[in-house]
Amino acid sequence: MSFSSAAARPLVDLSETDTAAWMKSRGYNEVHARRIIRELLGARSGGKQRLPDGLEDELAESFAIQAAELAMKQVSEDGTTKLLLRLHDSRTVESVLMPDYHPDRASGCVSSQVGCAMGCDFCATTQTGFERNLTSGEIIEQYLQLRREALSTGRKLRTIVFMGMGEPMLNLQNVLAAVERIAHPELGAFGWRQITVSTVGIVPGIEELRSANPGVHLAVSLHAPDDATRADLLPAGKRFAVNDILEAADRYQETSGRITTIQYCLLEGVNDSLAQARDLAHLMKTRRMHINLLRYNPTGLSLRGRTYLPSSMETTEAFLAKLRAHGAVAHLRRARGPDIDAACGQLRKRAGLPFDPKVPKLFQA
Ligand code: SF4
Repeated sequence: MSFSSAAARPLVDLSETDTAAWMKSRGYNEVHARRIIRELLGARSGGKQRLPDGLEDELAESFAIQAAELAMKQVSEDGTTKLLLRLHDSRTVESVLMPDYHPDRASGCVSSQVGCAMGCDFCATTQTGFERNLTSGEIIEQYLQLRREALSTGRKLRTIVFMGMGEPMLNLQNVLAAVERIAHPELGAFGWRQITVSTVGIVPGIEELRSANPGVHLAVSLHAPDDATRADLLPAGKRFAVNDILEAADRYQETSGRITTIQYCLLEGVNDSLAQARDLAHLMKTRRMHINLLRYNPTGLSLRGRTYLPSSMETTEAFLAKLRAHGAVAHLRRARGPDIDAACGQLRKRAGLPFDPKVPKLFQA
């Protein structure tokens, strides 16, 4: 069985309950639903299938076994691997595998939407606009492909972050359904704490996540300590003020018991001054949040015709030192895959949209 570009519903879209109902309707014992999840999906990352005779063929007739197929792959010198996955409607999404410092571990970054409507000016994804939400199965598919990719390099996928294409809070139901199944002992057996959901600062989304209280980590992409700079960089910043976002994150942290991460991508001359470092540290003064400073992977001309550059290492280190001098807990994350199209949306942009079979062979998987 393989990927089908036909409109058949992908098997990974089905929950255990859905699968059990289908089994029952076909005269199979419903208890095999768990085995389908374990054996069939597990087999796609190297395991063996042991399903009742005939069941596999019937499944293949009724469902697309994969929700996406690999269209392109780029591997960086640092081991970062970017996958471009083609969905049944020829749209494409990106997923990234990042090797950990531990030689046997890796992290995966998955997308939640095709394209993005958020319009962050420094991001390549937004340049193609928003196309549609991903189904839970299409998110799980990314997890399966990343897991297989990790195993092929002798690593185990240990963490998943929703920091790829799209704003997870605007597709939260499907994100949560995917998270629940990735955490399912028969599929990924991930602890909820091994999963991070990020947001550009959609306050109602953070509240909705808090109500669902799945126990995942929350990451807020702040990128500026003040409303004016933020609104200039991220249109969502015009709608939600920095204080409102951080207060929503406070409430999430209180409910979940998990420390929120503040993502801050340093852009030369935009958000990297020592005064901005001081202001950011000041925002953290009464909070137990961790700041991750990110190195920017340039993406060419922005939506507004600007060119953003990463802050120099000297500026970056001075910014980090200032944060720490003011008592903030901050870390510098190394740039991943600078020699490939590692920034969100870059590989897809290079490939052409929607998936174009005329893309040079060099870029095809
Ligand atoms: S940075 Fe994230 S939220 Fe902003 S446009 Fe890009 S994908 Fe969307």
